[in-house]
Amino acid sequence: MLADLAPAAPLHVSEPGRAILHEVFGYEHFRGPQQAIVSHVVGGGDALVLMPTGGGKSLCYQIPAIARQRAGHGTTVVISPLIALMHDQVGALHEAGVSAAFLNSTLTGEEASAVERRMLRGELTLLYAAPERVTTPRFLAQLDSMQERGKLSLFAIDEVHCVSQWGHDFRPEYRALTVLHERYASVPRIALTATADAVTREDIVERLQLEQAHTFVSSFDRPNIRYTIVEKKDAAQQLLRFIGDEHAGDAGIVYCQSRKRVEEVAQMLCDEGMDALPYHAGLDSKVRQANQDKFLRDEGIVMVATIAFGMGIDKPDVRFVAHLDMPKNLEGYYQETGRAGRDGLAANAWMSYGLQDVVNQRRMIDESPAGEVFKQGLRGKLDALLGLAEATDCRRVRLLTYFGEASQPCMNCDNCLSPPAVWDGTDAARKLLSTIYRVQQASGISFGAGHIMDIVRGKQTEKVAQFGHERLSTFGIGAAFSEQQLRGVLRQLIAISAVSVDGQAFNTLQLTDASRAVLKGEVAVSLRESVSTPKARPAKSAKFLGAKAGAVKAPLALDAQGEQRYLALKAWRAEVAREHNLPAYVIFHDATLAAIAQRAPQSRDDLQGISGIGAKKLEAYGDEVLRVVAGA
Ligand code: ADP
Ligand code: ZN
Repeated sequence: MLADLAPAAPLHVSEPGRAILHEVFGYEHFRGPQQAIVSHVVGGGDALVLMPTGGGKSLCYQIPAIARQRAGHGTTVVISPLIALMHDQVGALHEAGVSAAFLNSTLTGEEASAVERRMLRGELTLLYAAPERVTTPRFLAQLDSMQERGKLSLFAIDEVHCVSQWGHDFRPEYRALTVLHERYASVPRIALTATADAVTREDIVERLQLEQAHTFVSSFDRPNIRYTIVEKKDAAQQLLRFIGDEHAGDAGIVYCQSRKRVEEVAQMLCDEGMDALPYHAGLDSKVRQANQDKFLRDEGIVMVATIAFGMGIDKPDVRFVAHLDMPKNLEGYYQETGRAGRDGLAANAWMSYGLQDVVNQRRMIDESPAGEVFKQGLRGKLDALLGLAEATDCRRVRLLTYFGEASQPCMNCDNCLSPPAVWDGTDAARKLLSTIYRVQQASGISFGAGHIMDIVRGKQTEKVAQFGHERLSTFGIGAAFSEQQLRGVLRQLIAISAVSVDGQAFNTLQLTDASRAVLKGEVAVSLRESVSTPKARPAKSAKFLGAKAGAVKAPLALDAQGEQRYLALKAWRAEVAREHNLPAYVIFHDATLAAIAQRAPQSRDDLQGISGIGAKKLEAYGDEVLRVVAGA
């Protein structure tokens, strides 16, 4: 107890972070601004950290927590909304030899009391808790007691965009966190998020009074992720082909908009012999947790999910993220796709996108009960996303521009790798718009996209006959265009608000103020040439089934013996992970195992310096790893 009362040692901010990075986490270099953030926070400064998903936010508070604990400052309290992930986060720290615990509703009363006692005694370096717990009188009283004894080191507020209604995960309980700086003004705070837009950022600063905090903005580029957006034809078949061609046996996430669709797609993938699981808010919470655990613990699982899935998922080897439906905005898209390739190895972000997506998203905004100003904000965000989907130039440049970053064409997106042929859709656009106008004039009511396109193409349908629309002057004026071409043009017209969709009246199309400029030929409509899609490979192909059983793709080129060692190491890791009830990557990443397999170490010394092997892991697993390597 005496040591507890001794004054805290002064902190030297230059080297302790680097030493901890090496010793505890086994990493050689800081990434991006990590070094600056760590130094600032170790020294007691407040920080707001904006870093893309997978950028390495955790170390930004974990290393200061360790440094400050070693210097006698006590415990760091990590506030996170992700109760379901705390167990694994804490488990990963234990593996690295860091004293940590969590407090949440999954603990029994007795377990929780035990954690509280350890926290009060100052034994914990990090304590994870959800915001609703942190702000209870009971917990605050405990924090008071720690602060009085100088044992409250730091607050780390993770996923801090949850405090803002502009962020896409608003959680009212985050608002109550103002109590932290009001009550513990001398305790530094580090707030972290992957949401970068200016409005959300300002809102965070204001809500949590972080005006004094140093803001650290990382590059939002994720160079190892390849972006591809395809025109939706038969989305399910397109998805099958994408996974079959590029990701057989890989772990991935498929995002769909509705629960029903999630169920259907998961079933379809299973029928094709893949290991797919559904996840959405309508599932029983036990099933949800079980599916999430399986995704994290097993290899090669495809999670088919609504956006309810993914926040805080730190599985490093998710090789692809697919969107079968368009997300609401670029922030969402970027955060979701960012869950691919956290380990820095090649990964794919793939989206299929069509007219119906545009119509649905516009309609959802129009019909929402929100105020007009708020809706305008949502429309602006949707427009930016449509701009990305329709782009014929570098997708990454578009994305980064949106997040305020200048960049050069990336050579790692679909448009850079195979520049699309472009055609001028201005004429088709004018024909569509005049038809919408004339139909409305002639019949006094509006019609949907299908009927309008039929008239432009001069198709004699029952509906055309019923309303006498073959007599319109625009009937058949666009017979030269394919339906697909017109669909593309309409999509763009809706995207640029030159056509509006009335969701109250069967998705009928109407002209807008912006239509005039297109009609007059003042706005050019340029479109990518459609490429026809080959059929998906036959169902239940041997490729899927075989991949499911094997799933061995080492992230490094290995010779036959190296491959052998890699396999043996993976099998050993799976066993350890099961024993510890943790995901395999928490023990060692694939990249670490591959590096070991390549080096074929014969002594502990040979293991030194391999990325991902810190002191504790070397101690705990070094001999076993050597034994596995020798026996392979
Ligand atoms: P975020 O929370 O920002 O999405 P994480 O903190 O989960 O990202 O980090 C992503 C991955 O990168 C993790 O697997 C982590 O171990 C790894 N990582 C972070 N910083 C470094 C570093 N400096 N060197 C090597 N790997 C790192
Ligand atoms: Zn590009």
